[in-house]
Amino acid sequence: MALSKADYRGYITSPEWRDKHKEFLKRSHYRCSFFPFIKCGKKARYNVHHMNYENLGDERLWIDVIVVCPFVHNFIIHGLLSGFRRPSQQKNYPNTAQRLAHFWCCQPVMVRVGLVVLLVVNLVKVLAVG
Ligand SMILES: [Zn+2]
Repeated sequence: MALSKADYRGYITSPEWRDKHKEFLKRSHYRCSFFPFIKCGKKARYNVHHMNYENLGDERLWIDVIVVCPFVHNFIIHGLLSGFRRPSQQKNYPNTAQRLAHFWCCQPVMVRVGLVVLLVVNLVKVLAVG
């Protein structure tokens, strides 16, 4: 069942919503979905980010929500990528840049770690040759 906008504030501060975080964190391996080397949960701060608001009250991980660290959430997803506008202030949410970030966040953790390692290895190679 989808919630109305008026219910949103109550829901996002409710124990039901808090309870769902445990499963989201576990399935995210207690890692930021954007930067897999940053820890989330288990005492490390984290945010559960809504990639869309279509299934408010019945969110599924990787489809509707992702776990990210507060830096990525506030400074990248709702910062640099949106011109520091909240979703309600954006003409289109998510915008193209945010869609790309969401796509990246939803790749399996091994794919993301592998790509980062590949990038670093190649960067080192380029720097060593140059
Ligand atoms: Zn968010």
